[in-house]
Amino acid sequence: MRMVSGKATSEDTRVELTLRPKRLGEFVGQEKVKGNLEIAIVAAQQRHEPLDHILLHGPPGLGKTTLAHIIAAEMGVNIKVSSGPAIERTGDLAAVLTNLRESDILFIDEVHRLSRVVEEKLYPAMEDFVFDIFLGKGPAARGLRLDLPHFSLIGATTRSALLSPPLRDRFGATYHLAFYDETAIKTILRRSAAILRVPVEDGALDPIAQRSRGTPRVANRLLKRLRDYAQVMANGTITEESALEGLSKLEVDSVGLDDIDHRVLHTIIDKFDGGPVGLDTIAASISEDADTIMGVYEPYLLQLGFLERTPRGRVATRLAYEHLGLPYRKGDRTQASLWGRE
Ligand code: ADP
Repeated sequence: MRMVSGKATSEDTRVELTLRPKRLGEFVGQEKVKGNLEIAIVAAQQRHEPLDHILLHGPPGLGKTTLAHIIAAEMGVNIKVSSGPAIERTGDLAAVLTNLRESDILFIDEVHRLSRVVEEKLYPAMEDFVFDIFLGKGPAARGLRLDLPHFSLIGATTRSALLSPPLRDRFGATYHLAFYDETAIKTILRRSAAILRVPVEDGALDPIAQRSRGTPRVANRLLKRLRDYAQVMANGTITEESALEGLSKLEVDSVGLDDIDHRVLHTIIDKFDGGPVGLDTIAASISEDADTIMGVYEPYLLQLGFLERTPRGRVATRLAYEHLGLPYRKGDRTQASLWGRE
């Protein structure tokens, strides 16, 4: 398991229930999204209507699931949780939809992974709150239209580009969750430390925040590991010293990169002279799935400015060379191919 992966593990899921903010006021950062959501919620409440369907997108671990639960709490309605891969057939979707009550929120995580057939059944449900089923086969078949309660769909995705345009168009509002800055991550760390009742010295917060990849889930995970370390190796308090010692054992570098990030960068730099190189080629070189690289690893490397996306592929930047302690050789591959020397 990657220490700095934004994806949840079963251990994360257990602890996250206690650390997850319950109301909008407790949700740190993402001010623009919070502001817009607050207006949408108040407006819907004043009109006594359910919320518009909402799409939340951004890398894993930034708070999409948390926000969906918060929206339900603020609206004072129930939330039912499912995911793209869990709704395999149209029958699964029918079961989910017919179990909803008026104004309920249906949260579908990884909404980009719904199959096309299921997606097509979702359109009339989102638009007109109806679900068409067909009974029987052949000439005797007849259609039946079920009326659904007025629900709000909240879809979450790490890859909004993979959503089909008709599905994307049916969301009334789309919010992008961005990586958190270090100040916000430190606020989240302080909050989590208070809930977990672990004393943390102020000086320890900087090195933890710097390695958290701007991701609350990673910040909380590092905090839990350092709590164990401080308990066994120090007197239970996470001091700057115990934090640095503990962090050095986690195989995460000073900006939060781990082995897989390093392999991505080294593949581009060592094997392809810094790029440009296609995503599929990188994926094949390190035996990872191209979708995972694009949705999980690449966003943070782009955020750090270590990687650039160009029409011809990914390019490692000067910052990446500097971070890895390598001499910068700009565009070797580009020049070589231009002159046909490749
Ligand atoms: P996602 O659904 O985007 O993968 P989650 O909503 O599951 O992410 O968030 C992961 C964990 O990170 C949550 O359980 C919560 O503890 C923490 N978290 C996320 N966003 C925030 C935030 N803005 N403030 C405080 N904690 C947060």
